[in-house]
Amino acid sequence: MKKLIINGIVQGVGFRPFVYNTARKLELRGYVCNSNAGVEVIVSGSEERIQRFIERIRHHAPAASNITEMEAFELEEVHFQDFFIKASENSMGSTLISPDLSVCTNCLQEMFDKDDKRYAHPFINCTNCGPRYSIIKDTPYDRKMTSMDRFRLCSYCEGEYTDPQNRRFHAQPVACPQCGPKLQFLDRNLKPLAGDCIENTIDKLKAGYIVAIKGIGGFHFACDATNDAAISKLRDRKNRPHKPLAVMCSERNIGKIVHVSDEEMKLLRSMAAPIVILPQEDKIPISRLVAPHNPTLGVFMPYTPIHYQLLEDNDLYLVMTSGNVNDEPIATDEKELIGMADFFLTHNREILNRNDDSVIRTGSSQKVILRRSRGYVPTPLRLSFPTIPTLATGAEVKIAFSISHDKLLYLSPYIGANNSKKVADFYDETVAKYRHWFKIEPEIAACDLHPDFMTTKYAESLGLPLLKVQHHHAHTAAVMAEHHLNEPVLGISYDGTGYGSDGAIWGGEILYVEADRFDRLFHLNYMPLCGGDESIKHPDRIAFAYLYQSDIEVGIPPSISDLEKKILTKMTDSGNYHQTSSMGRLFDCIAAMLGLHCSVTFEAQAAMALEFLCQNTIPENSIVYPYEITDKEIIVLPMIKAIAREIENGVQKHKIARNFHKTIISFTLEAAKKARQKTGINKIVLSGGVMQNVLLLENLMAILAKNHFEIYTSAMLPNNDGAISVGQAMIANYHFKERNF
Ligand code: ZN
Ligand code: ZN
Ligand code: FE
Repeated sequence: MKKLIINGIVQGVGFRPFVYNTARKLELRGYVCNSNAGVEVIVSGSEERIQRFIERIRHHAPAASNITEMEAFELEEVHFQDFFIKASENSMGSTLISPDLSVCTNCLQEMFDKDDKRYAHPFINCTNCGPRYSIIKDTPYDRKMTSMDRFRLCSYCEGEYTDPQNRRFHAQPVACPQCGPKLQFLDRNLKPLAGDCIENTIDKLKAGYIVAIKGIGGFHFACDATNDAAISKLRDRKNRPHKPLAVMCSERNIGKIVHVSDEEMKLLRSMAAPIVILPQEDKIPISRLVAPHNPTLGVFMPYTPIHYQLLEDNDLYLVMTSGNVNDEPIATDEKELIGMADFFLTHNREILNRNDDSVIRTGSSQKVILRRSRGYVPTPLRLSFPTIPTLATGAEVKIAFSISHDKLLYLSPYIGANNSKKVADFYDETVAKYRHWFKIEPEIAACDLHPDFMTTKYAESLGLPLLKVQHHHAHTAAVMAEHHLNEPVLGISYDGTGYGSDGAIWGGEILYVEADRFDRLFHLNYMPLCGGDESIKHPDRIAFAYLYQSDIEVGIPPSISDLEKKILTKMTDSGNYHQTSSMGRLFDCIAAMLGLHCSVTFEAQAAMALEFLCQNTIPENSIVYPYEITDKEIIVLPMIKAIAREIENGVQKHKIARNFHKTIISFTLEAAKKARQKTGINKIVLSGGVMQNVLLLENLMAILAKNHFEIYTSAMLPNNDGAISVGQAMIANYHFKERNF
């Protein structure tokens, strides 16, 4: 007789019924249940059959599950009549919540089958698919604890729900047209309209209207992605002039608009169904306004039965963007969106936990997570050492917190991008939920070093022992946590904004990192940043101040007005500015000098333009501009001067952009080698928002590898501020543990 302890995503995904059926087929006896340690299986029978049983679990587990660990222990024989599923005990909590799962092929087959009981049912699901995280009120995961509790199972559904052989056994959101939630189609004043909801929606979308569609983690604004006027209207209403929008279309149409490899197709089709940013095909039917001046396009597949019904029988390409007001959290109730949409496709299954779409960018070898949310949360990160119950509050741009205890760390969904009241409320509410669900009462806290962040103030208000962590130290530690690195490393953190220990704004950093200590080995030379956060929206002002302070008289962005010049000159002369070593700002400066984006409406807009100019390549014959590396600094002024001269000489912009990238790679390698020499450390961690530039990231990794560095970068977490709380939590644990807290 054996006891198996199985960990990973094994709860709420049909794992227990699978184990049950497998055991029964092999005529084994015993039971399966959820326990604190994971899924627990007690199995009795011949040794040979038990081995076959283990093999089948390893290789044929349900599609949505993911076994990360399976341990087997020998037990003394106890007699069981047969094999059964043991009811869950209430004490567990932690591993019980599955992410939301996209609708599976079995359910789709039924939905499109005219003779099926659930033909055209917009809420079809099974143990392998459907909403999970977004409908949970409390743990343990059980129908009573979800927003499905108000829908009473009909006898047909009840029969399936209670039959261990059925693929809907204990599928908590199970429903049918008779007993399940109902769709509604509403006008702009939320008055219900007659007719078929799906047909109505398709008609209105084709006619150029904006329809707010209730999804899994919140509403989307949908409109026809081939219709310029509809997209302009949507951009106006969302106050989002340029930021790229994502497109959803049927699987057969995806290849018509973007290049997609087999690997990327797998990702698009995965249970998480994220938005994947891919290179656009030539001559696509999509409006230029969807992703202006952008050679890539974010696409995703239908992932709910409703999406499939909208897109299966036609060739619609839909802009699907988070249904929210400005940077507020994604809306879960149509009332929040009055005035924004022309029509609403909604229903009465409540969304209890907001959850934006996840976004991933792929390069030729790297996969960069830009946002980790729907489909991934709340799957915990497994840590290499046990933590004290910890709450780490994150930063300010891509707000997300982490809560950890023992070897599990839960990173929250994407909360928002500003510090408005609504974002703060959503933050509060989600922290409270995570504490409760995962039964973690924080004993220590961590936050950013920046004194003004909402998340810093939140951490201070907790009244717990608190560690304020330098931003790039935390970025590096987040990657270390993911890769279970507990030894000293070199950390290259290239980023937009991070508060430095000296009060300056850091962001071009090469660090030595050891647990809760770090040493700043090299950084970009300080440049003036006049006017704080507002200046970040005006790369031309950044460029002007850089150039002015360095006495460079050429390359000045033509967009700068005389008045701006006067103000910036005065601010620079009087020392009225912040010092910055930010790599993000250096990108902004060069982009503005090239006249790419003199002002920006979303984060990294100018830096992205500079990357796109390179057209995915840094050819051999690109030039390295001059720079200098001193004891502590990477002096980039000679490079800026050289670029100003090249602009003056009419050198083509894309060449300058490529040379600029090559120069960054070159000085990074040189500084990394010096750092290795100084410390004897060969492990190098790449982090920070600038690493979302896959051209830079992949070329940098290639050359570091050639020079025998051991390279680590994030694979499962964002490398931007979305995962900075993970690093904060790690560092706080090193810190408080060493002090025998
Ligand atoms: Zn299904
Ligand atoms: Zn039913
Ligand atoms: Fe950052």
